[in-house]
Amino acid sequence: MFILESKDQLEKAIIKAKKTRATVKFIKFGVYAVRGSKGNFYTIECKKVGNEKQVICECLGASKGLVCWHSAAALSLHVGLARQRKTA
Ligand SMILES: [Zn+2]
Repeated sequence: MFILESKDQLEKAIIKAKKTRATVKFIKFGVYAVRGSKGNFYTIECKKVGNEKQVICECLGASKGLVCWHSAAALSLHVGLARQRKTA
């Protein structure tokens, strides 16, 4: 799990996600599944706790507090959806 503080944090992970052509599946608002490099799916949860934006991914990197590319892929979808919700 990591706390999202700025978009800069995600920059490298987003590049990796694009290179990998990440497949992101929408499960419900705030919960997504991203296909990992071995074909397995990781569940990513994006939620707001107080003023903190928490991102939880099942993978090993994220469990060590790293920004993984699965999270970046899920977040890019999440941010778009959150924006739509506010304007809708
Ligand atoms: Zn991950």
